[in-house]
Amino acid sequence: MMSAGRYAPSPSGDLHLGNLRTALLSWLFAASTGRPLLLRFEDLDAGRTIPGSAERQFKDLRAIGITFSGEPLWQSQRQRHYGAAVGQLREAGLVYECFCTRREIQDAPRAPHAPPGAYPGTCRDLGDAERRQRRRQRPPALRLKAEAGEYRVADLLLGEVTGLVDDLVLVRNDGTAAYNLAVVVDDHLTGVDQVVRGDDLASSTPRQVYLRGLLYGQRAAESVQYAHVPLVLNRQGQRLAKRDGAVTLGQLSELGRSPEQVRDELLASLGLPRGPLEQSVKTFDPSRLPKQPWVFSPASQKRGPSESI
Ligand SMILES: [Zn+2]
Repeated sequence: MMSAGRYAPSPSGDLHLGNLRTALLSWLFAASTGRPLLLRFEDLDAGRTIPGSAERQFKDLRAIGITFSGEPLWQSQRQRHYGAAVGQLREAGLVYECFCTRREIQDAPRAPHAPPGAYPGTCRDLGDAERRQRRRQRPPALRLKAEAGEYRVADLLLGEVTGLVDDLVLVRNDGTAAYNLAVVVDDHLTGVDQVVRGDDLASSTPRQVYLRGLLYGQRAAESVQYAHVPLVLNRQGQRLAKRDGAVTLGQLSELGRSPEQVRDELLASLGLPRGPLEQSVKTFDPSRLPKQPWVFSPASQKRGPSESI
């Protein structure tokens, strides 16, 4: 049985310190458990993909010492795998067409405790005639007929993550595989059994574990180790973004910071010793990672890296 960790950025611009910090943690988690780390570019959303940014992301990751096993995977080249998974679910009677617009989903009546944005099941039981008629107005998305309700998964850092599994989208109405489907298929087919990512993605985990169980069996789904790591925030408490000043390796290098200095700053923010990652991994202990987000203050960039934490 293969076993691997992965880092899966969207090539929609340069990686910022928050992305690099999560990548660094993915590497440490994988290396400390003897797993290879795979790189996967999540480039299904053609509208968000910026040409050249995957290459720059790769270069920046390498510059702070992150190494990967094998060639990077590109989701845009894997449609046939996603199509096969949808075919499998369709055969099991678990796929239906949905014609709703985002607006219709927002405005639809739903159960009193359903979280905002959860799909209320509007198109689940459309008759043949109505489906035929609606297909003429709008191409359908494909949804999963989920029967899970609340679903609970274990997380190394968060403890338990509980979430509602609604009838999630499998294929968008432009024919592209949806995020959750692509992630589940790719993780499984590449042997990923350790997922380290930002804790803003924790809420999609119950859906992904449930879908992986449907496609590949309960045991495969439950063998995956999850660690959702705290994000990097700006001083206003918002998720770090490009507008927060010099936050990419390229921008920091213009301020005179070497990749090694940035790596050391990220390690220090995690309570880890500065230096090459091969050193840090020897004492890496997930249970001692900070549980709070790291607040990054752009003003600190005027000082030396050792004073700025
Ligand atoms: Zn619908």
